[in-house]
Amino acid sequence: MLARPTRHPAADLGAPPDWAAVERVLVVRADNLGDVVLATPAIRALRQAVPHAAIDLLASPVGAQVAPLIPAVRDVLTVSASWQQAGTPARPVGELARAERELIEQIRARDYDALIVFTSHSQSPWPVAHVGMLAGIGIRAVHSAEFGGALATHWVTPPPTGTHQVDRCLHLLAALGVPPAGTELELAVPAVARTGGVVLAPGGSCPSKRYPAARFAEVARLLAEAGHTVRVTGSPKEAALVDEVVSGAGHARVAPLGEVGVPELAAVVAGADVVVCNNSGCLHLADAARTPVVCTYAGTEGRTEMPPRAAPAVLLGRRVSCSPCRQFRCPYHQECLDVTPEEVAAAAMRLVAPKEVSLR
Ligand code: SF4
Repeated sequence: MLARPTRHPAADLGAPPDWAAVERVLVVRADNLGDVVLATPAIRALRQAVPHAAIDLLASPVGAQVAPLIPAVRDVLTVSASWQQAGTPARPVGELARAERELIEQIRARDYDALIVFTSHSQSPWPVAHVGMLAGIGIRAVHSAEFGGALATHWVTPPPTGTHQVDRCLHLLAALGVPPAGTELELAVPAVARTGGVVLAPGGSCPSKRYPAARFAEVARLLAEAGHTVRVTGSPKEAALVDEVVSGAGHARVAPLGEVGVPELAAVVAGADVVVCNNSGCLHLADAARTPVVCTYAGTEGRTEMPPRAAPAVLLGRRVSCSPCRQFRCPYHQECLDVTPEEVAAAAMRLVAPKEVSLR
């Protein structure tokens, strides 16, 4: 059963915004690539409800790369937000403050009428609501079970922990009078020749989400020996990880995909027979393209929060009492990902032929 967050007595008050008077909306999803993909049903709902308004996206450098694939988005503001920087070495306070002041001025210059802040269960919306208030945005909508005073004009109690990310975004909009327009992920992926094969993405936003590289190398080798071509991909920061998997597999059919942008990666994923990855951006790119996907799904997030819903999918992992942990580094031995390479490779080979959904 999903745990229901506490409702603060000051939350959920006030009428929905007068959308007819809204001309410019800033949607915030400042975390990872996959989170932006999971926000696409909400952006579509907003587009349909407020067709006259310009919708811009505030995203991280990696999330911003998805923006060209979302036709409803007019423009993107790219920011390495201080409130998203846990796990990385802190930048000097003067640098952080300067960047935030510049962001506020950038937002103020665009004269937005409404700010919609999408967050995951473990994230606070209040820093960005504060930025929006300082930038003079009149309507500021957030999910929170915690008090944030006047930083938001529309403070909505979140849905239960464990709610799927897509539904969580739609829940916030529903409270603002915006009806849903379907839950399917939607990306305008460039057309490419269908190349087939396996796309293997060993990366992930943090170490606790990553199935070990040596095991991914073994998965790649097993798939190659079964006759599949395996292309290993990762972000520029994951180049060493990609090399480790390719060299560890030691097979002519296993090679790096090479440096590609998110639109090209989305196209390659759309043309693949199957994707093998962690709970990362590639999982959601595969779901958007309806490409079968095997995911080594760590217990960092709940099983109900981010699974694919449209693509044939197998989620592999062990059920552990410490999940969902939200840890960037596992304090134990990553028992939640104690799955053998043989299990992963077999699941991928099963998915190449029959197309059926199987969540374990
Ligand atoms: S084993 Fe537990 S603490 Fe470690 S990553 Fe998995 S769910 Fe988190």
